[in-house]
Formats: sequence, C-alpha cells, structure tokens
Amino acid sequence: MPIRPRQFIGPLVVMAVLLTIPGRDASAQPTTSPRPSAETILFPPVGSNVDLPSGVREGLRQIRGLDPTATDELIVVQSRGLAVTRSMLSRSTAERGAGPETQQVSIILPNARVITTKGISFKDLGGGRSSWIGSVTSDTTNQANVNAGTVVITTEGSRALGSISLLDQKYALTPLGQEGEFAAIYKVEEGRTLKPEEPPQNLKFKKRTEAPQEPSTTNIRILLAYTPTAERIIASQNATLGQYAAQLIAESNATFIGSKVNVSYELASLMPVSYTETGDWVTDRDRFFLKGGNYSDMDAVFDERDKTKADIAVLLTGDNTYCGEAETIHANSEEAFAVVDVEPFCRNKFTFTHETVHLLGGEHDPPHASNPPYKPYGHGYITGQQTWRTMMAYDTDCSPCTRILRLSSPLLRYPDDQGEVLGTANEYDNARVVKEEAEAVSKFK
Ligand SMILES: [Zn+2]
Repeated sequence: MPIRPRQFIGPLVVMAVLLTIPGRDASAQPTTSPRPSAETILFPPVGSNVDLPSGVREGLRQIRGLDPTATDELIVVQSRGLAVTRSMLSRSTAERGAGPETQQVSIILPNARVITTKGISFKDLGGGRSSWIGSVTSDTTNQANVNAGTVVITTEGSRALGSISLLDQKYALTPLGQEGEFAAIYKVEEGRTLKPEEPPQNLKFKKRTEAPQEPSTTNIRILLAYTPTAERIIASQNATLGQYAAQLIAESNATFIGSKVNVSYELASLMPVSYTETGDWVTDRDRFFLKGGNYSDMDAVFDERDKTKADIAVLLTGDNTYCGEAETIHANSEEAFAVVDVEPFCRNKFTFTHETVHLLGGEHDPPHASNPPYKPYGHGYITGQQTWRTMMAYDTDCSPCTRILRLSSPLLRYPDDQGEVLGTANEYDNARVVKEEAEAVSKFK
C-alpha cells in the first residue's frame, strides 16, 4: 500500500507549507510557476512562526561558522521520517520503472524558488541509509532553461544531507539538531572561500597498461579513512559518518551519470584512523601518501585497502589549509591516494570527486594543468560565458563560477541537450579520460 505523506505531516507543518508555497501570493510569483501539491514537497518549509527546538537553533548558528560560503538565503525545512522520504524518492526514480506511480518531487528553496526533480538513481545502502540522485525538470527561476540541475541527497533516519546544483546557484542541504528532524537549505557562494585544492605535487604520469573500454558499468571501490578531527567536524554538521561518506560517493556518481560515463564508485570501507593531525598539511599528507613511514596508525589503512579490495584510498581530514590534494595525476595502484577536507565548503564544491578524478588522469583547466598534460584532451573546461566550470577546472580565471557535476566533454551540453557544449575533442574531454582509465583503476585491487 502506498504511503500517503500527509499522514506523516503534523498539522503545524501543513500550515507552514500552506503559508510558504509560492503562488499563494500572486503578486510575488509569476503566474506560470508550478504549484507543487503538499504530497510532492520533499522537505516542507517551516514557517517563521514555529518555535524551533534549541538544538535546531544552535545548528543554525553553527552553519555560519562551519561554512563561510553560506549566504543569508536560508530556510528551515522539516526533514521527515525515512519512510516518507524514501517512499517519495524511490517512487520518483524513473529507472525503477514505477510506471504510473512514478512521481516527481518538488523542493522549495529560499526566496520561494521551487524546483521539481525526477529521480535518476536510487540506492538503498542498508542500515536505514539511501542515496538519491535527481535531475531538475522545472525551476521557477529558470523556466526557459531546465535540465540544468542535479540534486544529490543521502538520507539516514530522518537526517537529510545533500547538494542542489542549479543553473545559476548552488544550495546545501544539511541536517539540524541531534535528531535531524529539521534541516537547513541555504544558498552557497563558492567564491567566498579562498581554500583551493592543491595541485598534485607528483606529476610523473607513470605508465600503466591501458585496458580496452568496456560497455558495462565499471565499479571503482573507494576506501574512506577519517581522522578524529574529521569525525568531530562531520558530527558538528549533524550528519553521520556513513551518511557523509555515502553523499560523497553519490555526488561522484551523479557526475558520472551526468557526464554519460559508465563508471560508478562504491564504498569499500569507512575506517577510523587514530592519527592526530599535526596541523601541517604537507606532513599529514605525506604520512598518508608515503607508505612505510613508521606511522602505524596510517599503515592500518593500507592493510584495510588490501583486505577490502579498495582501488582508491582517501583520507578525510579536518585540516582546511586546502580542500584536497591527490597524490598524482593518473595514478598507478601505489599512488591512488588523496586527502580531502570535510568542511562543508569543500563538499559544496565537490572536492572529493575532483581529487579522485585526478587519480584517474583528469587535469585542471590548461593554465593550471601540468605541462605537458597527461593527455592533451584531458582538461577541465570553463564555459565561454564564464559562468560554469566543469569538475576539474579551477575558478581562478572565472571567479565566481559554479562548479557543476559534469566532466568536460564535446558530447555534453549544459543545460543538458540545449545549452553550451562543455568541451572540445582536442583539449577538453575529461569524460573521455575517465572512460579510458576507469577499467585499469578498477583492477588496482
Ligand atoms: Zn585539482
């Protein structure tokens, strides 16, 4: 029997939805704005008259401190129980072939912006956790340019963690309060943080045997290790470690789906390391990258990598000197390591995906790429309008420009199927690099 979301919404929240649905105030909204019915609103906004629990108010205060990219555009929403969210998300996922039951879900954003999304991937990860990837089908702010947004949400219990990338803006979804019964959706501005990703230092381009491309999906297994500092910072975002890890993996998979690349990441292991960060990025990085350095806490990662057959290992840290760094571009098995900071402003710009694509051979935009590059066609791309950059491009030459969940490719347009071409065959085709290299990386372990 289908779950009827209304059964799970308290009267207070229904009232809040009615108060905040765009269209109720005709003077404030274009008459063509879609009006989502309450049943399709994934996260009902909470009215400003609602007295929020103290833990939620504290969470709101923390956001500003944790995320310098957060703007004043912020709303509090109800993060409903797993049964409701999961039911709505799984029914909205087209690939599940739900037929007439297939349902689009709406998300209300700050300033009464409303997007409607269609699910393209839903994964039940066990333990009450699931990841969902949706593509935007309508947007009250960009009514002429749809197909330009991607939503990635990982739910655990009632906690919802996510990213909402739209044509012109990016929003973060983050749990609030200890129970995660509320969440915040806020607009982020990537240009507000000056923390870059450090270019890989080790540009050796070691040769490995290139395997022929195969049509089926290539699975690359990821080990995520985390320091006690990283654990504390993730906890302060009210997300669980497993949820945070699943969200990183899902954002990468959304990138591959959006780039029409038949590659998928899967989590091989999520392990704590009892390593105390020194506060010096290079020291901690090298102790992770350079095995056998008598740092037994780190060495446990390498044993775990073998045991769980993880092709790539990433250390999650709380050192925000940089957002991340890969050991090299085009890694071999011994070099398939990266360090990624867990603060929200690094996740907002998808640093985890960026660094792991370096390991596969992806380069930055040409002014920030190695010379000569690993592949002449393997550069990140900045659109001619200087508005967007693909996953591997820096924002130095287009700041502020939004990083989108796409790899550069002459075969892609942004917005999908109707916008600007996202690359060229000769210089900007990181999608091709990933397609060519994924098979070899998937056999590292
Ligand atoms: Zn980089």
